[in-house]
Amino acid sequence: MEVIKKSLGQMGTNCYVIWDEKSLEAAVIDPGFEDQRIIDIIKENKLNVKYILLTHGHFDHLGGVAQIKQLTDAKVLIHENDADCLGESRRNLSVLAGMSMELEPADGFLKEDEPIMLGDISIRVIHTPGHSKGGVCLLAGDVLFSGDTLFNTSIGRTDFADGDLNELLSGITAKLFILDDSMKVLPGHGDNTTIGYEKMNNPFLKGRF
Ligand SMILES: [Zn+2]
Ligand SMILES: [Zn+2]
Repeated sequence: MEVIKKSLGQMGTNCYVIWDEKSLEAAVIDPGFEDQRIIDIIKENKLNVKYILLTHGHFDHLGGVAQIKQLTDAKVLIHENDADCLGESRRNLSVLAGMSMELEPADGFLKEDEPIMLGDISIRVIHTPGHSKGGVCLLAGDVLFSGDTLFNTSIGRTDFADGDLNELLSGITAKLFILDDSMKVLPGHGDNTTIGYEKMNNPFLKGRF
């Protein structure tokens, strides 16, 4: 599996382009802003982008969705609980940034029992609400795309309308901290980390598992 990470926009949202080298089937995770670098990666590697995968429905993860969908005809997938974020600027919080971001409905939903396939790569959906109701992490091989659930020594904000700190923390301990310590964690903002490093060093999770 190939993974390229680019930090997009003023909020530094991490967008990931991932693909299967054999089939060149690809997904773009969280294209938060329009950025030519993402388009170039797709074109230069001749990728067949099958999916745009959204870890949750906040605007800083959605801003490049329409452009990439238009270019590639990829299917937009999001967890059902955040599906209304796409079309509602109040729900995707773009109103807070003085914008009104309203997108087309999703093409399908991310579900825990339905892995996403890219060639031979199977991507497992792990529902981790708390930052938003429909927050998910995506597990592919030895990499976990953790969205705004788990960051390097931090966690996602829970002070938005549908945030819940206890739900977020218990999801991390029950569903993420059971993964291998060596599992790489590629978050929605900031530097990469590992499950083992977060167990040792994340101050929000101290004494919780
Ligand atoms: Zn968010
Ligand atoms: Zn974010």
